[in-house]
Amino acid sequence: MAELKDVKGIGPKALTLLNKINICSIEDLLTHYPFRYDVIKRDELGSIEDGEKITIDGKVESIPILMRFKAGLNKMNFRLVTQSGVVGVSIFNRAFLKNKLLVGTDVIVIGKLDKKKNVITASDIKMESLSNKVKIEPVYHCTSGITNKNMSTYINMALLMYGKEIRDYIPLYYQEKYSFVNKKTALNIIHNPSTSEKLKEVTIRLKYEELFQFMFKINYLKQVNKKEKNGLLRKIDRDKIESFMNNLPFSLTNDQKTAVEEIFHDLESPHRMNRLLQGDVGSGKTIVSFIGMFANYLCDYQSALMAPTEILANQHYINLCDFLKDTDVKIALLTGSTSKKDKTEIYNGLEDGSIHMVIGTHALIQDEVKYHNLGLVITDEQHRFGVHQRANLQNKGVKPDVLYMSATPIPRTYALTIFGDMDVSTIKEKPKGRQKIDTYVKKNSEIKDVLGMMYKELKNNHQIYVIAPLIEESENSDLTTVNELKSQMKLAFKDLYKIDIVHGKMASGAKDLIMEQFKNNEVQILISTTVVEVGVDVPNATTMVIFDADRFGLSTLHQLRGRVGRGSSKSQCILISDSDAERLKIMEREDDGFVISEEDFKLRGHGDLFGTRQSGDMTFKIASIKNDYKILLQAKKDSKEYLENKDTDKEDLKQYLIESITKVD
Ligand code: ADP
Ligand code: MG
Repeated sequence: MAELKDVKGIGPKALTLLNKINICSIEDLLTHYPFRYDVIKRDELGSIEDGEKITIDGKVESIPILMRFKAGLNKMNFRLVTQSGVVGVSIFNRAFLKNKLLVGTDVIVIGKLDKKKNVITASDIKMESLSNKVKIEPVYHCTSGITNKNMSTYINMALLMYGKEIRDYIPLYYQEKYSFVNKKTALNIIHNPSTSEKLKEVTIRLKYEELFQFMFKINYLKQVNKKEKNGLLRKIDRDKIESFMNNLPFSLTNDQKTAVEEIFHDLESPHRMNRLLQGDVGSGKTIVSFIGMFANYLCDYQSALMAPTEILANQHYINLCDFLKDTDVKIALLTGSTSKKDKTEIYNGLEDGSIHMVIGTHALIQDEVKYHNLGLVITDEQHRFGVHQRANLQNKGVKPDVLYMSATPIPRTYALTIFGDMDVSTIKEKPKGRQKIDTYVKKNSEIKDVLGMMYKELKNNHQIYVIAPLIEESENSDLTTVNELKSQMKLAFKDLYKIDIVHGKMASGAKDLIMEQFKNNEVQILISTTVVEVGVDVPNATTMVIFDADRFGLSTLHQLRGRVGRGSSKSQCILISDSDAERLKIMEREDDGFVISEEDFKLRGHGDLFGTRQSGDMTFKIASIKNDYKILLQAKKDSKEYLENKDTDKEDLKQYLIESITKVD
């Protein structure tokens, strides 16, 4: 298939900008669906009151007269013939339109009508006609340098040139069964809808397609897992592990013990482990996974632990080294920022088996990574990874056992649909000595109180996280930025305490350094975007302050709040927001992640649950697991039927779908 740069009109500059918003192929472009539609509806001159807003289309009747004023200002006047009469139009500061507004040109004028003068003062002129009374205009997520109009032009050009070649993921049989239009038509309509009925129809079709593709993968992975009885056989030396465990500073909770036993059982059984370890934030999942890795090591297999962020990978690495410091286990850390030289060394060590355990980010699933005898794969915060990546990792080396860890409790019904084949271990009990985290919702005007509360904690030698929402260049909102927050905090606390910043766009070396300093209490106030959300563990931090809290889903807030309350001191979480108080009150009331997740699910759909911030197969372009649950169930049933139907095995589409899951290239 052709590439994005082959689309007429997309030059090198546009290409870079498109890549920046994750549009890298023609398929990405064509499935860059509008996030909303504006409805342009034709008014009649007679039915609009004086001074009211009017939208009207017609033909330019007179050559526009341009007047220039001081300071570069200008104004243009022309007459417009519409279906309901002739009207004058004036528009300010659009001199550049003069050459386009030729007599006879079709335009849509949006502005305010002055009835006495019979003139519209236009705020916008669109160089197009309204063939029907109503026009539905798609609105896209763009980035500075690409306007909505550009985006629409690129998409339509791509459709024109390559629309026929775009892959359709719905097998013909189901297309016919549901009388779906073909892919090209569907794309054409979603980007250029003529009526809302048609739009609705193709939206369902495209949602179904997306969910079909997704469920096909899930079903395939289930089928593969079920067929394989070739799990690794191990005999775990429990005495050895027991005596090792006696050196830990704490003893495991009962739920942790049960989880460990369940994992051991899986490791010893001839079936491959496919287990989800669920437990609320701070419930102590990490240590359970470390014990699993140690047991796996004692049986002479390698282990890999994959984390969604470098900060977290780093932390796990430090903790694991500490956990195993009295052993001969060789551990490596492999992330995007590992130097080339170190990488090569680690690849070699993994391939020849001299490295026993590796911790890392996505870097672990790069093609270069080959294992000597990978026996156990653990993914932390698993909801952040796509199905595709999971499959990829599993396909490395021998067939390893797999453990997923998640602190985001997925409501049971949905979990069963999506992960129906997994065994689940749940840690409900919190480690001993944990106290409830007090949560307060505060208004921006109450910032003095908040600073007072912070000061009290700082005086007690405790540390504080301050969270600001992520700043997107393209997002022209008035979010409080990390830097502003830092100045504000500096003003409040002078030089008494060290304040620093981490955010997602920082180089990871710099990030790690600051995290390390925070961990060692060399930094007392850490201002951050949600990069600290997952997993980070600094028990001396007792206060979490979250600005613009209403911008976050409850599950995210719960995750963030889980960064404090990790030691024995009383901790608190302060949510600052001037709106959405009702929803935030849930946080004051509830501290059970499962309950909060259900509430979040009710309020926001699947949003947070599957990590929309992180790209991965769990992020849908058009479908939503919650809102389109019925379509999901149908797609699940159909894709299973399709997968199991031997008659379709030779079909190009089926082979393609399977290849895209198992591809290790
Ligand atoms: P999560 O489940 O959110 O990943 P962690 O594994 O990071 O939680 O554990 C949170 C903190 O609790 C860590 O500092 C860990 O050392 C500690 N911890 C884990 N298990 C216990 C336990 N049984 N008793 C006391 N502290 C524990
Ligand atoms: Mg964790």
